[in-house]
Amino acid sequence: MTANTVDFDASPNNLEPFWMPFTANRQFKKAPRLLVSAKDMHYQSHDGRTILDGTAGLWCVNAGHARKEIAEAVGAQLTKLDYAPAFQMGHPAAFQLSNTLTQMLPEFDHVFFANSGSEAVDTALKISLAYQRAIGQGARTRLLGRERGYHGVGFGGISVGGIVSNRKVFGPMLAGVDHLPHTHDLKRNAFVRGLPEHGAELADQLERIVALHDASTIAAVIVEPVAGSTGVLLPPKGYLQKLRAICDKYGILLIFDEVITGFGRLGASFATEYFGVVPDMITCAKGLTNGVIPMGAVFVRKGIYDAFMNAPENTIELFHGYTYSGNPAACAASLAVLDIYKRESLFERAAELAPYWEDAVHSLKGTKHVIDLRNLGLIGAIELEPREGKPTARAFEAFLGCYEKGVLIRTTGDIIALSPPLIVQKTHIDQIFDTIGKVLKAIN
Ligand code: PMP
Repeated sequence: MTANTVDFDASPNNLEPFWMPFTANRQFKKAPRLLVSAKDMHYQSHDGRTILDGTAGLWCVNAGHARKEIAEAVGAQLTKLDYAPAFQMGHPAAFQLSNTLTQMLPEFDHVFFANSGSEAVDTALKISLAYQRAIGQGARTRLLGRERGYHGVGFGGISVGGIVSNRKVFGPMLAGVDHLPHTHDLKRNAFVRGLPEHGAELADQLERIVALHDASTIAAVIVEPVAGSTGVLLPPKGYLQKLRAICDKYGILLIFDEVITGFGRLGASFATEYFGVVPDMITCAKGLTNGVIPMGAVFVRKGIYDAFMNAPENTIELFHGYTYSGNPAACAASLAVLDIYKRESLFERAAELAPYWEDAVHSLKGTKHVIDLRNLGLIGAIELEPREGKPTARAFEAFLGCYEKGVLIRTTGDIIALSPPLIVQKTHIDQIFDTIGKVLKAIN
């Protein structure tokens, strides 16, 4: 075994012990794709390819790869204070980061740290239940999600999530969960640029669920403002505003899962800013550390933390937390990347590039197999006509074809999803869409 991954022997035996997540392991290990280094917009693969990163890793490397400032900050933190107990003890970086984060979103006055998007989601769901109880609404135990929602892989997240393959073999899930319909409507909204015109009325389905269960039993609704992992499903104009209004009417907490939309993806700090809709909690991860150290967080709106602090003081206020909540190295990485976002105005940069990105996405109209194109900020999707009777979706073939040609894209079912680092240049955008166009033409 060698510590130098560039020299790694990628023969099948060496690849076998790693049970890869969300991966067709048997296929992959016959024809592996290993990334051995990265810089700015590009990866290098073990077989010598230079690959343009069209997906910011997994929607997370917003400031581009191998940023020296982050490495130096993490290195300095590790040699100064490598770890501090997370319970009944503190360290400066966690407080500093909480201050910096809450300054980004003034309506939110506290932050709870986790280690991933999944943990942030489960944390937010648990805070919802505990908060309702703290304000004397302990019968509010139901949690609502949405069809085609992705909220990570914890039992809370898959319960409120709406992806059948992530749920079907894992038993009955959390009790007391219901789902709103998704908002994806190819018949009415195909090829629309930006937000769909049709579908805001789908938020009224929350009224139906309230009528069925009674508001007094419902703690919270969680939605991704833009559903990313199931193929970039955009909220119809007015939908999120309506959802907010109905939640307000019935005392239901609204959680935005901004694991993807947080930290500049839409050309604003968060989707809450982009849409002008303020939820009660925001979950985030990914861009929080530029993906380099696992970290998630939950922002809570003013009043939520206070409800816990105003309860009779007898013991710990919230029985929840992780060994690595506010981990020093993760905090240092986050502080460094937040500084880069600000110094390089990367969120504004994303907003400036968005019209060019939109034109590039929609330049694929008329390309073979393409049945929809979607864009917002620096996020995009290409939906392909489903292929009947063949095991491999066209989108996955496109992924393999683009990889061969040096562009990393992401696929889910029949949809290609794109989300480049926010440092992307126009020439990179051109390369991404030229490559996809050529690859699609060659697919049957
Ligand atoms: N929520 C959303 C909206 C996500 O997109 C993701 C990850 N793609 C998660 C939660 C889960 O994050 P993680 O993989 O860090 O657990």
